[in-house]
Amino acid sequence: MKLSLVVPCYNEAENVAAFQNAVIEAFTGCGYDYEIIFINDGSKDATLHNLKKLHDAQACPVKVISFSRNFGKEAAIFAGLNRACGEYTALIDADLQQRPEIVREMVQILDEKPEYDVVAAYQDRRGEGKVLSFFKKSFYSIINMLSKVTLQPDASDFRTFRSSVRDSILELKEYHRFSKGIFAWVGYDTFFIPYTACERAAGTTKWSFWKLVNYAIEGIIGYSTAPLRLATVLGTMTGISAVLYLIWVIIEKLVFGISVPGYATIIVLILFFSCVQLFCIGIIGEYVGRTFEQTKDRPIYIEKEFLDSVQ
Ligand code: UDP
Ligand code: MG
Repeated sequence: MKLSLVVPCYNEAENVAAFQNAVIEAFTGCGYDYEIIFINDGSKDATLHNLKKLHDAQACPVKVISFSRNFGKEAAIFAGLNRACGEYTALIDADLQQRPEIVREMVQILDEKPEYDVVAAYQDRRGEGKVLSFFKKSFYSIINMLSKVTLQPDASDFRTFRSSVRDSILELKEYHRFSKGIFAWVGYDTFFIPYTACERAAGTTKWSFWKLVNYAIEGIIGYSTAPLRLATVLGTMTGISAVLYLIWVIIEKLVFGISVPGYATIIVLILFFSCVQLFCIGIIGEYVGRTFEQTKDRPIYIEKEFLDSVQ
């Protein structure tokens, strides 16, 4: 098997057949074997039903993994990689925003350039609003400042890689998965190609603004311990300010002899430092929570059903 296409699907009933057709069209005459691995990530519509139809029809080799509930795209990718047996593995969405023709190009590049292990696509023209793109830019500058690995802005998880890269990714068994960080962490030589994301063929995106914010927090907490140091920095800074203020109060008392009632000051200071303390406890809590989740050592996903491709 030359190529495994890993396709996470959550409520993509209207897209999966069109997606398979697009793949078949793109790979006709390519001269190598490929398989599509669909992961039904606990869809609530007819996605599984339609995937089973595709599997039974066998227009091309199709594997279907069906989860017991929605575990998220990252878990779906992990499950797909586990079942992939191609020399190359491609990650691609089911909604046809990422065209299968580009995967064919990626395969060609990997064939022609043995020095590269990964071909990743980045969006050259984004159709999103200014506010969102500002937040995304800020996120990348913050995370690249804090973390030891460098994330490529705009690089999506639309990529094709060799089996060695797949094996390395599978070795990272963390429960909170953040694929951009995982790709950066495993390293390997990556060749970037631009692509323009098409409109979604059908259905709606599963990303809301808050989901993106959560995803960003996931990335920062998962790839850096710098926020933990914030408590130390804030503690030191406020300690120094407190000593300076104390000196000022003593001088004021001795030189000018004023005794200030200071009611408002006390209230403000109490509120301010309670706030700082709660904030720092919150940050520590984020890490403790993740440690807790990881030590439970639960599986990243549960496979309820698996349909293998009939050769
Ligand atoms: N997806 C998934 N599980 C989820 C959410 C999304 O498997 O919980 C899949 C979805 O079916 C699609 C891909 O991940 O194939 C990308 O999702 P979407 O199109 O909503 O994201 P966008 O393209 O808007 O970033
Ligand atoms: Mg999409």
